[in-house]
Amino acid sequence: MALFEIFDPKAPPHPIGIDLGTTNSLVAYVKNERPVAVADCDLETLVPSVVAYLPNGDVVVGRRAVRLAAEHPRDTIVSAKRFMGRGSDDPETRRLGPYEFAEPAAGEANTVRFKVAGSRVVTPVEVSAEILRALKAQAEDALRNVGGAVVTVPAYFDDAQRQATKDAARLAGLEVLRLLNEPTAAALAYGLEKRTNGTFAVYDLGGGTFDVTILLLDDGVFQVRSTGGDSQLGGDDMDRALARELLAALGFDEQRQTPQLIRLVLDEARRAKHALTTLDEVEAEVPGQKRVKITRARFEELIRPLLERTGLACRRALKDAGHKPADIDGVILVGGATRVPAVRRYVAELFGKEPLADIDPDQVVALGAAVQADLLAGQGRTDDVLLLDVIPLSLGIEVGGGVVDKVLPRNSTTPCVARATYTTQEDKQTGFEIHVVQGEREMVADNRSLARFTLKGIPPMPAGMARLEVALHVDADGLLSVHAKELTTAIEQTVTVKPSYGLDDATVEKMLLDALDHGEEDLAVRRLAEGRVDASRIVAAARKGLQADGDLLEAGERARIEAACDALDEASRGDEPSRIRARIDALDDATKAFAARRMNRAIARAIEGKSLDRVEKSVEHAKGVEEAHAR
Ligand code: ADP
Ligand code: MG
Repeated sequence: MALFEIFDPKAPPHPIGIDLGTTNSLVAYVKNERPVAVADCDLETLVPSVVAYLPNGDVVVGRRAVRLAAEHPRDTIVSAKRFMGRGSDDPETRRLGPYEFAEPAAGEANTVRFKVAGSRVVTPVEVSAEILRALKAQAEDALRNVGGAVVTVPAYFDDAQRQATKDAARLAGLEVLRLLNEPTAAALAYGLEKRTNGTFAVYDLGGGTFDVTILLLDDGVFQVRSTGGDSQLGGDDMDRALARELLAALGFDEQRQTPQLIRLVLDEARRAKHALTTLDEVEAEVPGQKRVKITRARFEELIRPLLERTGLACRRALKDAGHKPADIDGVILVGGATRVPAVRRYVAELFGKEPLADIDPDQVVALGAAVQADLLAGQGRTDDVLLLDVIPLSLGIEVGGGVVDKVLPRNSTTPCVARATYTTQEDKQTGFEIHVVQGEREMVADNRSLARFTLKGIPPMPAGMARLEVALHVDADGLLSVHAKELTTAIEQTVTVKPSYGLDDATVEKMLLDALDHGEEDLAVRRLAEGRVDASRIVAAARKGLQADGDLLEAGERARIEAACDALDEASRGDEPSRIRARIDALDDATKAFAARRMNRAIARAIEGKSLDRVEKSVEHAKGVEEAHAR
């Protein structure tokens, strides 16, 4: 007879780890020092990430919701994760399923809103919260007392997507101990941190997404070195390839393929795919149709192009991390679709070594999250593991001429902080507009705007005097805060960046490719913009000098300087950076002697009636102003 466990009423709450997946989600905890997945009453651990909103107001999650999808396609939200942190104006969102979207009301944040069950409007955050609530309930059934949670997110998730995930967890009544990158969680589940050092690749082929991550383990500390993948590639594509084969074998041309038939064939294709993981041959049977024999060899032929696409992404991620396949000390398989034997063989070939696959690839991320939750809750091992992640795109600040000054380069490990110092462009400027952008391009207009705020109340000073220090800080959860401080007055301000929507990995990928494609063009635009800014500053300074100290001019000097100013102005209106540079140099030459005379006069005036010590200070001060100008 089975022995039932009785809850210990004094037991502390169990910390839990949650893998909130695109296709499936699950929850795990550490039991007797080993992580285990929580099963429901049917002994199932995976909860399909599907939420159905019924007309009577009921909300159904998981397997039952999957069954409702056929009947209520628009009211059943699948893969809400793809919509997390996305804008409603994002063209991608319209392509992702048969949903009806509600337009945001005026003044409302620009997030995706699904219209379900007649008049109800729900956001992806709310849908994810339903999944998390179901997981929490499943954990409570098994453990009674549930504590804080570690929730995993893809390594490429940006600020908005992480924030959205955190919001969903809070909405579900979970205390989020921290967000953890999925690949890092998988490495923890394998206890790789005990090896102390090494470079690992995590190959994650799920239902609809493929992610590859290169992790560096340095003295027991994990760093995500690079991430890559394909947001439209996964086990579902194998189903579709097999379904096309079945439809052809059954003699259905496109005109005769109804949505109902396609759904039946897809279901059967998935069943066949799962069976082919252990069998060499299966018979697919679509209700009302003849049986079709499919061999594993034929299936492998059909999915070969998909595997090659994963290989491409792997090679790119390796390159980004500065590695060759041979440098990799271990490859971890994650995601249900890596059960397919052909996938395992392909990965072994690609990296030249057998991948780690002892832990259930469906569960490995949640198990790792549970290990981390246990550790954070202080009940686990004492040898602390510090986890580092990377930022997917560079973060920078807009400077004069619409140019981006990259402050934190892409793939910087988090938590991270970087500072840069700027100065004013105009005399008596009393505010700084700080504009934080994300992306790889040289010009602000080609990147994504993350935040804009103004630092006000700076006393009027000559241009170039103020010292503005901007610090960008990305915390362990990947959330960004910006701190700006004017150093001479100590006026400061901090903002936490909470954009209303984020970027998906496909957009990140596109932005990276754009940056590569436009590298040279960007540099030219940047040089031009910078040239124009310099030109206008220098011309203004020269004209100011002519006005202030005209009596110091020698014969013909004024005319020469004015001509050089006009020539530079004219070059500035053109679009040749080299011409602008040449004329800046010419104006410099024309004003050199005059500038020296002005400097002498300034020093002579400063000396009148002052001690030497103060003179030195004011000379230093003048030099400081010049250096600031040079920035
Ligand atoms: P996600 O991370 O996107 O939530 P999962 O890791 O749960 O996704 O992977 C789901 C995919 O794994 C589905 O395409 C499913 O068909 C596939 N899968 C699950 N088990 C098997 C199996 N035994 N053989 C082949 N594919 C499988
Ligand atoms: Mg997954």
